[in-house]
Amino acid sequence: MDIEEHRRKLKKKRISERGGFSLIILPHYQGKIKVIRITRRKIYTALTVFVIVIVMLVSFAFSYKNLNNEVARFKGMKLNDVVAAQSKELQAAQDEVTKTKTELTSLKEYVVYLSSLEKQVRSSLKLGNSKVSLDYVLSKTPKAKLQSSNNLPTDVAQLLSEQNNVTLLAEDRAKTLNLLKGAADEYNVLLAQTPNVWPLHGYISSPFGWRTNPFGGSGWQFHTGIDIVAYYGAPIRATADGTVEYAGWFGGYGNFVKIYHRDGIETCYGHLSKIAVKRGEHVKKGQVIGYEGDTGLSTGPHLHYEIRVNGTPVNPMDYLK
Ligand SMILES: [Zn+2]
Repeated sequence: MDIEEHRRKLKKKRISERGGFSLIILPHYQGKIKVIRITRRKIYTALTVFVIVIVMLVSFAFSYKNLNNEVARFKGMKLNDVVAAQSKELQAAQDEVTKTKTELTSLKEYVVYLSSLEKQVRSSLKLGNSKVSLDYVLSKTPKAKLQSSNNLPTDVAQLLSEQNNVTLLAEDRAKTLNLLKGAADEYNVLLAQTPNVWPLHGYISSPFGWRTNPFGGSGWQFHTGIDIVAYYGAPIRATADGTVEYAGWFGGYGNFVKIYHRDGIETCYGHLSKIAVKRGEHVKKGQVIGYEGDTGLSTGPHLHYEIRVNGTPVNPMDYLK
């Protein structure tokens, strides 16, 4: 290294150290005086490092805060999802319960309907309070096996399945009962139109069939009905539902009523003292249609009662219970 170069370097160093300062540390008693040279470059370097550190700290603080917020948001989101899923499940369960309740309610209504239907069938068949119950009928024709109450299914699916079975069973029974009720109603109409009761409470003075002439004379006479004796003016009742075909005087029958019932079946009432119905009138079984008398060809107060099938007299005793 030559002298010129060395000088140049010293000069450069002096220039760079210009504007700097020195810290002189003086010991209190003895020792060396310490001089710390603080150049401008050192100050700049220290300032730069300081600024960098501050910037880093501030940005780190911001990042940390953001991260914290993110974590909190994430946590909140997860919790919300869980709550949403749970409330969804709760809603589904609630819906299922509501549906089941509704179904059970309609099932109960069905049972009430079946009970009323049973009452109707009972009154139709005149079963009254006899021991033939719906339970008995159901036990005679088992279709779906039902679990007893002390063995109730715990599983909801099984419970729903059982409920479905009960519904099907109830529907099946309703169908059967409706058919039965229809048949019973039809039967009752036929029964009401069948002359199976007495028109008058009394004794039979002359039966149906061949007899000697009651008016003297010779030979035999075919009696087309039965003669019933009670007392003069006793009420005569229609023996079945029907329509009055004739009400008025009719030769030897005197005051005469003829009622049409069904399937060619008619009933005739003769020798009445008084007639209580008109032609074309609908009468019910047991309704008073006239009163006992001795009009026409008669040997004393009595009712001549006849049943005709397609115009031919038949023995009324065959219809009486
Ligand atoms: Zn007679």
